[in-house]
Amino acid sequence: MPDNAVAAVLLAAGGSSRFGQPKQLLDWEGRPMIAHLADVAWAAGLSPIIVILGAEAERIAPALAERPVQILRNYRWVEGLGSSVALGVSALMSSPAAVFLQVDQPFVTPHLLRSLVSRWRDTAPRPEIVAPTWEGRLGSPVLFDQLLFPELAQLAADVGGRALFKTHAEKILPYPVTDPLLLADADNPDVYAQLQSARQDSTALLPSIRAVISDMDGVLWRGSNPLPGLRDFFALLEERGLDYMLVTNNANQSVAHYVEKLAHLGIPTAPEHVLNSAEAAGDYLAEHAPSHATVYVVGGPGLREVLARHGFILTDGDTADYVVVGWNPTFTWEDMAKATMLIRQGARFIGTNPDRSFPLEKGLVPGAGAQLALLEAATDVAPFVIGKPEPVLYEQAMLRMHASPETTLVIGDRLDTDILGGLRLGMPTAMVLSGINSLEDVHHSPIHPDLIFDDLKALAVAWRARLER
Ligand SMILES: [Mg+2]
Repeated sequence: MPDNAVAAVLLAAGGSSRFGQPKQLLDWEGRPMIAHLADVAWAAGLSPIIVILGAEAERIAPALAERPVQILRNYRWVEGLGSSVALGVSALMSSPAAVFLQVDQPFVTPHLLRSLVSRWRDTAPRPEIVAPTWEGRLGSPVLFDQLLFPELAQLAADVGGRALFKTHAEKILPYPVTDPLLLADADNPDVYAQLQSARQDSTALLPSIRAVISDMDGVLWRGSNPLPGLRDFFALLEERGLDYMLVTNNANQSVAHYVEKLAHLGIPTAPEHVLNSAEAAGDYLAEHAPSHATVYVVGGPGLREVLARHGFILTDGDTADYVVVGWNPTFTWEDMAKATMLIRQGARFIGTNPDRSFPLEKGLVPGAGAQLALLEAATDVAPFVIGKPEPVLYEQAMLRMHASPETTLVIGDRLDTDILGGLRLGMPTAMVLSGINSLEDVHHSPIHPDLIFDDLKALAVAWRARLER
């Protein structure tokens, strides 16, 4: 995680007199609420994650075992929220900002947290506070810029961070949400029961889906074999008039290769429906780079072809505007030395995909992400990565369909790329168990897909059933 990451402070010290048990341990999606909130903060990319415990700390702490969080104990929790906020701030060393979350807001999403962070990052001058609003009312979670940390550290007794809303009213950037459920808090058992039932059947999201972005390997096929439901799934897309994009982090196989493979499996499709991370890199650069920019490529012939087709000048010279790195099993020390020097001279460092390993029949070998790691170590510059779970590949896919995130379903078999990428963009996510990750993995993962199916067949059946209700 880069040094300038925004931190999370999860406030979970309070007692739960109304619940008869710690509300931190109430069930949410099959795990304790406090673990769920820590997972949401992790999936949003917040780091470090500081958790403040107080009441029944010994009983609650084990629920966070094996999670990458730092637990602090507030012995003065009875005095109120202020002392917990102050304690959280004391643990923030170099964070430029922190998001304060309440443990009883189970509908907070990674996308909401990332939206607060990007509002803060992208607004000039930077706001001191970013808070979600519903119908004009400020809610939680709240992002505070480090400028306010000294004031937060002074809070005591029953005065929480919201005290700063009055004194800094003009420095607050509101972030209006479109669904009040996002900000709901399980304040008492009745509300908790209402919230539980509100999230009951997640297939309720399916009728509003207008477009689909699906991974291929492990979803549509495994090796050269089609997976169950492949034809049925495409028939459903056709019947419902749903647009779709088939996407992959793999930058080595051309779009034509996938179109051909699908035809072979009995699915006729057009190249416009397929996007790999090389094409997405080309689209992204075409949008953001000056025309005729020079590019030094460390990657296969496919990546070179894409960038040349987008009008970039491929160079082996001593200067370049961009260094673009894709998987290349024949790269040499000379290639890496050149890329290092160019990045150190200021060339922008772009990676097609972050996959650290690549499966060959004989086993896992270094992937594009391993090449990026080598260059990052040599340059101290982090690459801008196109592939999942970073947003560009999905964003380019949505752009091609004129689709919006909330009505575009992500389908994938990998939690840490397919599903995480969707969650971060606020897209509904469906995981299929026909590929890399199992149900067991889901139970241990901080990444929570909205929907889980055995395979595309089960997804198509559930979708049809929902539409027929
Ligand atoms: Mg896959």
